[in-house]
Amino acid sequence: MAMKSEVTRQLIQSVADSIIAHAEELTELDSAIGDGDHGNNMKRGMNAVLEQLDDLSAKSLPEALKAAGMQLVMKVGGASGPLYGTLFMAMGKELPEPVSPDGVAHALSAAIEAVKARGKSDVGQKTMLDVLAPVASALVEGKSPAEVAVVAEEACHNTKDMLALKGRASFLGERSVGHLDPGARSSELIVKAIAEIVGEKA
Ligand code: ADP
Ligand code: MG
Repeated sequence: MAMKSEVTRQLIQSVADSIIAHAEELTELDSAIGDGDHGNNMKRGMNAVLEQLDDLSAKSLPEALKAAGMQLVMKVGGASGPLYGTLFMAMGKELPEPVSPDGVAHALSAAIEAVKARGKSDVGQKTMLDVLAPVASALVEGKSPAEVAVVAEEACHNTKDMLALKGRASFLGERSVGHLDPGARSSELIVKAIAEIVGEKA
C-alpha cells in the first residue's frame, strides 16, 4: 500500500511540476492562436490538484484520477478544463486494478472517446486529441515509456502544420497553420512526465 501511494504521489507531482514549469510557454502558444490563457488555466488546475496531494495519494490510482479530474473540471476555465477533467475522470472509471500496461492502454483509449464526445471533436483537428490518440495507439502496441514519450513529442510537433477545426484556434482558419497547438503541447508534457516516472519504476 505504501509503495502504491508513493507512486501515485510521484505521478501527480511530476505532471503538476512539468505543467507549472511550462505555463509561460503554454500561454505563449495560446497567445498565437487562441486567447493566451492555456498556461494559467492549466497551472490553476495543477495547483488545485497539488493542494489535495495527500488525499489523492491515499486513494487507489483509479480513484485518484477521478478526484483529480473533478478538480480540473471545477478549477480550470476554458475548453481545456472540462476536456482534461473528462479525460482523467474517464480514465479513473475505466482503469482496472491492479493497474497493468494493457489496462492503461484500454483506459486511455476509452477516455479519449469520452473527450471526443464532450468536445464534439476528433483526431486531425489540431487539438490535444492529436497527441493523446497516437499515445493510446503506442500503448496498445506495447511500446515502452521512453518510446511513448517520443510518440507524444512527434505528435505535438505534427500539430504545427495542421489546420485548427475546433476551439478558439479554429476562428483563425488558415492562420492557425504554422503554430503548435497549446493543448497538444500540454498533453505532450503530461505524457512525458508520466512516462518518466513509469520508466524509472520499470
Ligand atoms: P480556451 O480555448 O477556452 O481558451 P484553453 O486555452 O485552456 O481553453 O485550451 C485550448 C486547448 O484546448 C486547445 O489548444 C485544444 O488542444 C483544446 N481544445 C479546444 N477545443 C477542443 C475540442 N473541442 N476538443 C478537443 N480539444 C479541444
Ligand atoms: Mg485559451
